[in-house]
Amino acid sequence: MTNPVLLVTGGSRGIGAAVVRRAAAQGYDLCINYSRDSRAAEELVGEVEALGRRAIAVQADVSDAQAVAQLFDRCTERLGRLSALVNCAGVTGRISSLAEAAPDTIRQTIDINLTGTLYCCREAVRRMSRNRGVIVNISSPSAYNGAPHEFVWYAASKGGVDSLTIGLARECADEGIRVNAVAPGLTETDLHASGGAPDRAQRLAPQIPLKRAATPDEIADPVVYLLGPGAGYVTGAVLRVIGGR
Ligand code: NAP
Repeated sequence: MTNPVLLVTGGSRGIGAAVVRRAAAQGYDLCINYSRDSRAAEELVGEVEALGRRAIAVQADVSDAQAVAQLFDRCTERLGRLSALVNCAGVTGRISSLAEAAPDTIRQTIDINLTGTLYCCREAVRRMSRNRGVIVNISSPSAYNGAPHEFVWYAASKGGVDSLTIGLARECADEGIRVNAVAPGLTETDLHASGGAPDRAQRLAPQIPLKRAATPDEIADPVVYLLGPGAGYVTGAVLRVIGGR
């Protein structure tokens, strides 16, 4: 029996890295995608191998269709048939009002978060179509609160992720492929510093009914649940993991 193979985009840091660790502990072999930080990705490969699983790190910008095709080819060649995909790669761009946002920030955010997720889902279902498979997309509650004064363009990209999750779930259901999303609330990762607000999780925590940000593991656990057989009748769902907000 071979282990199931999971590809995690943006798997080198933050929520993606937590998904990689949790999935490895559950018996998956891992393809860890990253864009720039090869050291973080290679260190995580070592952690997964120490658990007795196979792992590879593959650099690819998910907004580049050709690079995405090569990423999936490499995963299949090295680890075997793809069982599951988690689309975690994401950016916010620098926090500002829409009026102040640079066109490049808007374009890059949509390209990575939305177009990149579409490219990766497309490659996955092409490879899973004579197989059973499962996809989990990482969305955000900004899809319905709109993230005013922070990153309206990011919210729009995640609204798109919710829509594609529902559409693809219905399109692929009769091929045995389930597609769901997890919408994490405020989570302690470097994403906030990358957007220019390193104290954002601490600052906003009092507004959350549970009075704190989530840890990456607290988001990874529901993702791994959706990947597994316990979620066999769950498809087209967006699971909000938001501390009651
Ligand atoms: P993070 O700690 O900043 O990690 C981002 C990951 O995405 C890194 O592995 C990064 O790789 C990768 N990445 C960035 N651009 C990429 C590209 N073009 N191609 C491939 N990989 C790319 O962020 P995070 O907080 O874990 O976010 C993960 C997901 O959760 C995102 O989709 C985000 O929108 C979503 N989310 C986060 C929060 C939160 O509060 N943190 C809340 C709701 C939703 P490199 O390091 O190599 O660049």
